[in-house]
Amino acid sequence: MIRLTNIQLPLDHNDNALERVILSTLDIKSDQLVSFSIFRRGYDARKKARILLTYTLDIEALNEQELLARFANNSQIKATPDLEYHPVTQAPATLTDRPIIIGFGPCGLLAGLLLAQMGYKPIILERGKEVRERTKDTFGFWRKKILNTESNVQFGEGGAGTFSDGKLYSQVKDPKQYSRKVLNEFVAAGAPDEILFVSKPHIGTFKLVAMVEKMRAQIVELGGEIRFSARVDDLHIENNQVTGVTLADGERLDSRHIALAIGHSARDTFEMLHAKGVYIEAKPFSIGFRIEHEQSAIDKARFGPNAGNEILGAADYKLVHHCKNGRSVYSFCMCPGGTVVAATSEENRVVTNGMSQYSRNERNANSAVVVGINPSDYPGGPLAGIELQRQLESHAFVMGGSNYDAPAQTVGAFLRNETPEALGSVVPSFKPGIKLTNLADALPDFCIEAIREAIPAFNKKIKGFAFEDALLTGVETRTSAPISIKRDQSLQSINTKGLYPAGEGAGYAGGIMSAAIDGIKIAEAMALSINQE
Ligand code: FAD
Repeated sequence: MIRLTNIQLPLDHNDNALERVILSTLDIKSDQLVSFSIFRRGYDARKKARILLTYTLDIEALNEQELLARFANNSQIKATPDLEYHPVTQAPATLTDRPIIIGFGPCGLLAGLLLAQMGYKPIILERGKEVRERTKDTFGFWRKKILNTESNVQFGEGGAGTFSDGKLYSQVKDPKQYSRKVLNEFVAAGAPDEILFVSKPHIGTFKLVAMVEKMRAQIVELGGEIRFSARVDDLHIENNQVTGVTLADGERLDSRHIALAIGHSARDTFEMLHAKGVYIEAKPFSIGFRIEHEQSAIDKARFGPNAGNEILGAADYKLVHHCKNGRSVYSFCMCPGGTVVAATSEENRVVTNGMSQYSRNERNANSAVVVGINPSDYPGGPLAGIELQRQLESHAFVMGGSNYDAPAQTVGAFLRNETPEALGSVVPSFKPGIKLTNLADALPDFCIEAIREAIPAFNKKIKGFAFEDALLTGVETRTSAPISIKRDQSLQSINTKGLYPAGEGAGYAGGIMSAAIDGIKIAEAMALSINQE
């Protein structure tokens, strides 16, 4: 197959345009073209009145080798890379050590699925509940303020991204095309086919719930085992080799191959690992607020007269500003047509995040506006970043009225350092509710200063970003793990053999796709190591 990249066509091009452009680019007649498919479709919206669709196409043609030789110097025309996933090994006929995976988020899910597909019959331990029960608990918290600390937005089947926008792209290097394997598995589990070709695929909350169930069923069918409400409270280590785990109910399970795919909110587990001597370092992360605008305003700012176009969908944005005080402020986890959600897993704390449905047709756009901070901002050892997160989340709880409502402020009032008297035209989407206040107190001064500088700067890129009535809700503290559980080239902990720190919680991923890719890498490393023993 031949891959054509960077093919641009007008937004309203007709059905035959793709074929015509293939024939002219390759300088062939239509009877030489066997078939073609869209590998990727994105858009270039730099000129709002003339938005272009940008395609990557895979083409089957007669005499492909001759064409590739003819265009050898054309960087737009290359052989299509092999996108097939090839398992690195298979389980031996008699399996002496069943691998354990702690955590059933995207990282644990893909690690478990791959190990099951290779015949290793993994045991997956998840502290939260299965996804339908978890959905009830999570919506219960949003509607009735009843928090279940083991079953919520962060904990339970599917992990942190289950109630999310379900963005499925990442910026990690992926030379082995693992992301394709992840997308293929998601489509097999019921995700829409378009995630295979749109440049920024997303699936939204409810589709994710159904997909996770199907993937779980496949793992079980292949001999894997998934235990819910099975929190790992202890790790057994003998002579720097991991030997097993103990669950909260006291049961002990033995294994010399244990993946730690626990996400960024398992603070009690981080503490346990630190106490056990597993090597952990503090790492930079980011803190800030969620900002909400009306989606129609963002569509207009990004797409001008093409706002509302069906192919473009609800507009997103990605912004960064380097401040005079040396800090960087950036937009994070932008959710077009979505809602701001309460994302705490601990009592008496308030944390924001964002989610949407596949349709992305809620009234508001939201994103986190966050400031990068690093361990020199929170000295005090590997777990000091967690302590800072806890302080900020507890303070936000109090600022919101000590009842799980979140503190919020209009952007105009924030920029003038005033408490707003009333909401404007932007209706808050945060459930259970918000309390208007002055957020200047919610974060360290240097962060407030940086965000006050960044919002007007963002307004130059997205007109209306600094709109008086836009709304800030706080606090956004769980952008990534504040720690890193270091691993070596074999993907094992640098001081605990057989322990595979993985995904977002260990500092090796930042989103659904990168966590899932890390899950595949971990599964391969574990499988190869088991075979060597
Ligand atoms: P997690 O998904 O956090 O999974 C870890 C799992 O481990 C959890 O289920 C937890 O219950 C379990 N666990 C923890 N400790 C233990 C223990 N001791 N014993 C047993 N089990 C344990 N990313 C995107 O790419 N796109 C998005 O649109 C997006 N939106 C998001 C929206 C929200 C509301 C949230 C909270 C996150 C969002 N993210 C998004 C981030 C994304 O969800 C994470 O990056 C991703 O889930 C990390 O995957 P993971 O498998 O490493 O960890």
